[in-house]
Amino acid sequence: MPGPPKKIRRRDGRAGSGASNQNPVSGKEFNYILQLTEEDLRLLKRYKDVLAQGAAGFAETTYNYLFDNPDIADVMYAYERQGGNLGQLVRRQLEHMLGLLEGDVSQETTGHIDELGREHYKWGMKTIWSLGAYRLYLDHLHQLVATDEQIEPDDRSNLDSALTKAVFRGLGVSNEAYWRALVEGLTEQRDELNNENTLAGEILGNIPQMLWTVNVETNRVSYASPGTQDFCGDELEAPIPCFHLIHTSDRERLLTAWEQVIDGSTISLEVRLASGENDNLWFRIAYYPVANRRGRVLRVHCLMEDVTDRHLDRERLEQLSTRDAVTGLANRALWYDRLSSALAVAQRNPGASVAVMLLDINQFKMYNDSLGHEAGDELLRQIAGRLTRVLRATDTLARLGGDEFGIVLPMVQNAEKAAERIATEAMSCLSAPFSYEGKELCVSSAIGIAVFPQHGSDAHSLVSHADSAMYRAKWNSVPYLFYQSESPESATDHLQFSGQLHGALERNEFELLYQPKIDLSSGRVCGAEALLRWQHPQEGQVLPHRFIQVAEQLGMITPITDWVLDTALQQSRDWIVGDQPLQISVNVSARSFQSPGLVERIEKVLRKTGVAGSNLEVEVTESTLMADLEGGIAVLKQLRKLGVSIAIDDFGTGCFSMSSLKYLPVDTLKIDNSFLTDLSANPEDAAIVRSIIELGHSLGCKVVAEGVEQEKVSKQLLELGCDLGQGFYISKPLSQDSFNEWLDNR
Ligand code: C2E
Ligand code: MG
Ligand code: MG
Repeated sequence: MPGPPKKIRRRDGRAGSGASNQNPVSGKEFNYILQLTEEDLRLLKRYKDVLAQGAAGFAETTYNYLFDNPDIADVMYAYERQGGNLGQLVRRQLEHMLGLLEGDVSQETTGHIDELGREHYKWGMKTIWSLGAYRLYLDHLHQLVATDEQIEPDDRSNLDSALTKAVFRGLGVSNEAYWRALVEGLTEQRDELNNENTLAGEILGNIPQMLWTVNVETNRVSYASPGTQDFCGDELEAPIPCFHLIHTSDRERLLTAWEQVIDGSTISLEVRLASGENDNLWFRIAYYPVANRRGRVLRVHCLMEDVTDRHLDRERLEQLSTRDAVTGLANRALWYDRLSSALAVAQRNPGASVAVMLLDINQFKMYNDSLGHEAGDELLRQIAGRLTRVLRATDTLARLGGDEFGIVLPMVQNAEKAAERIATEAMSCLSAPFSYEGKELCVSSAIGIAVFPQHGSDAHSLVSHADSAMYRAKWNSVPYLFYQSESPESATDHLQFSGQLHGALERNEFELLYQPKIDLSSGRVCGAEALLRWQHPQEGQVLPHRFIQVAEQLGMITPITDWVLDTALQQSRDWIVGDQPLQISVNVSARSFQSPGLVERIEKVLRKTGVAGSNLEVEVTESTLMADLEGGIAVLKQLRKLGVSIAIDDFGTGCFSMSSLKYLPVDTLKIDNSFLTDLSANPEDAAIVRSIIELGHSLGCKVVAEGVEQEKVSKQLLELGCDLGQGFYISKPLSQDSFNEWLDNR
């Protein structure tokens, strides 16, 4: 990392060239400066004894003088309290004075005074205090020189001068020692600080966090760690370095935060960087303001660190906890959350309503089982994509699990109307075929709707009501239904049914009815369709649309189909029309059709009942075949080999394309009865019926119209070229005995 510019760096603050670089003043230097000559030294030596008079008393006086001053006395007492020996200090001072008189400039004497100076420094004694002592001493000596008779009158003047020089010298050495001790102390402290600074520098230069300090008064960056300068560049913007790198949508937030920091708040926030390669980086910036005692912020320490990984982890976690992994839509938890918020808002706004919609994909399980989970997931994604396009940005679409989607329409003035519109659009957007690996897949859906406040006031009851409406829509084979408080076929029914359906076979509760098919032009009976009924112990006769799907979900459909095949073939053995045994049609639902071993089981039943394959017709729906066209074709071909005929039931309601029909070994197309209800009044229906008939004939199939309720419809169908008819006009589905009678009467 390149080093920071000098103007900012504070780490290496070495003091300028100062006293510490100078050598100690030598004795020779002192002598030269004070002009202390050999002659002076000789003179001092000669009168040494005279001058030593009263030296001891003088030293005492000096210290007494010092103790007279309360400030000085305090320091002296503290010195003694902490183990210092004042007597020794006095003695050393005395020895030094005497040494001066001898003109002794040896190391030993200067060593003494050096120590003395250090001691003074250490205990906080001011240099100026020695100044007073020396002045007293000099006075005392001058007095001696002027008055003592042992001194030759001619020497007095020179001796005075030598004494002045010697006393100054002592003072100089003492002060020099004092200051040297001071400088050494400071140098030691400075070295310690330097060491700490170097360490701090090493740490700051190597940590991934960036640190800087802003001087609030000058609005300048007063310190920036090497990492900060490396990242933001040498020219640091104040007060927020690299502000230009911050994502534009986060800048406002950052500036607001800075204002709060200046007011004294400690703040931490996350921002995105947005420039070139740094596009996906997230940073946490923390501001720590430092204020004076009056609360005025003087500087702000700032820390910035890369939290991209943490951020991504958090996002991923959030995604996991609120999103559905397959479709990327909201999951159940988030959906409930949005629903609760929408309800809270609506409760505060009179007149506002919220719609809750549950959408279940009818054929999803079949695709999932036959094509595999990957195909199932892909189908769910495509469904999610289409549904999303139907909704507003404020609506919430979620995958609640399996093939169930949830929709919340918040804050709509007329939720019922809005939900109805969405339901219709959802239905139509799902009606176009989906594609997976070149295969066309068709799905339909059932939607249940509950509206706040009409159908409930809390999320739980609205969802449970939408759920029962959805089940009702399913059982009634309608695309959507609103919740009805007294709905007989609610979700609870479904659960109850599930339990009771188990064992229905063993308890012999199933029964078959037979509905004849006739040739529309001759009126000849050509066959009968076996239709299943469940004699429910409490409810009486239950129609197949209420239990077939439940049976499929419970995995009970295969034994039921086997029972139907077995019963229908056995019961039909006596039915001969002309010389021919009557052909019996059996409905095979998607699950049964796809279950392995269907062909083998049919073969077994034919053998067991002794019925020829040509006397059996299997009815399958378009969507059953579309789920796995290739697999379906293979099954149909095997059935053909057994002589069994194949009919496509409810034709026209699925999404068969001409191209796929071409490959199917099919004998019969059964026009769905929904096209017949309005046949005479609705020219469009007539056109559809006509084209189905033409299509069937072009493929070499017979065409059957089911749900013929009136004579005029029967006639119209005949005119359109339809071959066979089945419906209440001809006969309702009949029990075995009634069917026998019906045949006899014919
Ligand atoms: P589907 O195979 O299309 O059967 C024709 C349905 O139309 C029957 O309803 C029949 O009773 C009804 N129907 C016949 N003529 C008329 C008419 O003139 N007007 C009206 N409105 N309806 C008429 P059902 O028996 O309730 O069966 C409903 C569906 O349940 C059948 O539709 C079939 O898909 C399924 N199903 C019936 N029996 C079985 C079975 O044994 N196994 C399986 N897997 N499904 C079955
Ligand atoms: Mg049928
Ligand atoms: Mg049908």
